[in-house]
Amino acid sequence: MDVEIITIGDEVVTGHTVDTNSAFIARELTELGLTIKYKSSVGDSIELMEDTFRIALKRAHIVIATGGLGPTDDDLTKRAIVKVFRRNLIFHEEILDDIKARFRKRGLEMPALNQNQALLPQGAIFFPNKLGSAVGICIAEEGRVFIALPGVPSEMKQILTDEVAPYLRNLHIGQAIKVIKLRTTGIFESALAELIMPGLRLESGVRLAYLPSYSGVDLRIIATASDDAEARGKVNTVVKYLEAVCGKYIFGRDNDTLESTVGKLLRERKQTVAVAESCTGGQMGMVLTSVEGSSDYFLGGIMAYANQIKTAQLGVSEKILATDGAVSEVSAIAMAAGIREKFGSTFGVSITGIAGPDGGTEAKPVGTVFIGIATPERAHAKKYQFGIDREINRTRATFTAIELVRREILGIG
Ligand code: ATP
Ligand code: MG
Repeated sequence: MDVEIITIGDEVVTGHTVDTNSAFIARELTELGLTIKYKSSVGDSIELMEDTFRIALKRAHIVIATGGLGPTDDDLTKRAIVKVFRRNLIFHEEILDDIKARFRKRGLEMPALNQNQALLPQGAIFFPNKLGSAVGICIAEEGRVFIALPGVPSEMKQILTDEVAPYLRNLHIGQAIKVIKLRTTGIFESALAELIMPGLRLESGVRLAYLPSYSGVDLRIIATASDDAEARGKVNTVVKYLEAVCGKYIFGRDNDTLESTVGKLLRERKQTVAVAESCTGGQMGMVLTSVEGSSDYFLGGIMAYANQIKTAQLGVSEKILATDGAVSEVSAIAMAAGIREKFGSTFGVSITGIAGPDGGTEAKPVGTVFIGIATPERAHAKKYQFGIDREINRTRATFTAIELVRREILGIG
């Protein structure tokens, strides 16, 4: 079934609000096996909304709009819906009670203006809003479904996840959908495709998508079938194949992150890690500690930005700094060994490089990064050549370093 997503509001159209809602909705609905055909944006005008809604209902089975459901005069979505579907507004006592209770809980009297939020187009069903007063509205007519959700991202997300997704899943009864995301890192999308494509045979109703980001490439497998078991079987066939051809790059599934995977491995083995960061300025520590319970395995780190800190705190010799420089294999090794020894961790990891935009030379252009790792057995470092963008370089260095820890733990070359 085809979907069109419509974002509503002058702020969105003019770019004062960056539209994150449609991206979220698109991702969630794709997971359900629906196909997003169009996205459109329209300002706060009843006439323009009417046009937009009519066009969308002609070319998509499911239309999802966000924004303009608030109680104020600039919130016009409901008025446009009423015109398009030629329905009257009906008062819903239970919605009003709910809104009143919400205000009472906060010790406030409900403003009279909020009463109109209890009005719904005739025949519409509503999706409760746990975080705010605007309920989601849903009208199904002639094989088309129109859904309007509030614009506030947290409210939209809650209603979409808790109410809309189950509702849409029920719509295609007789069709089961199974989605699995395999998360890879340490390999480019194109190189990954070269491993996967030659032997890949997809059964009917199965799709494979590559979703690249700076921390890795996700492989999303979607299978539709007549029942759950068949859909699961189809997905598993592809998963097995992918594990066979590119297993060493796969660090997890679905909601796993690289940092949570590495954390789990360290915890299982009762191992610890400490970091010595130069060009990432603490980002690796930040990412590792974003995982709940990371104090079990993350000891701490030193932001060794200046050379004298590399020497005084990590024991990198002045000779190394003078001859090879701070951005070098030997420096990275010395930093990793230094932090490991100082903190008494199982692993010491170091990152030193030229993030840019300045500071590059012919021998070490912007994007040159050395990542070192020291273990109880050995210390070594690898050179990476990233790009010219400072922030991207720092992010790539961070995740590459975390991946290096994963490989060291698992003994993957
Ligand atoms: P309210 O009850 O707050 O008025 P509403 O349903 O009327 O909610 P809007 O007034 O359209 O929604 O938007 C409320 C706020 O939500 C906006 O100020 C904006 O910050 C955010 N918002 C709206 N649309 C989007 C969008 N497409 N992407 C991200 N944020 C959005
Ligand atoms: Mg509003």
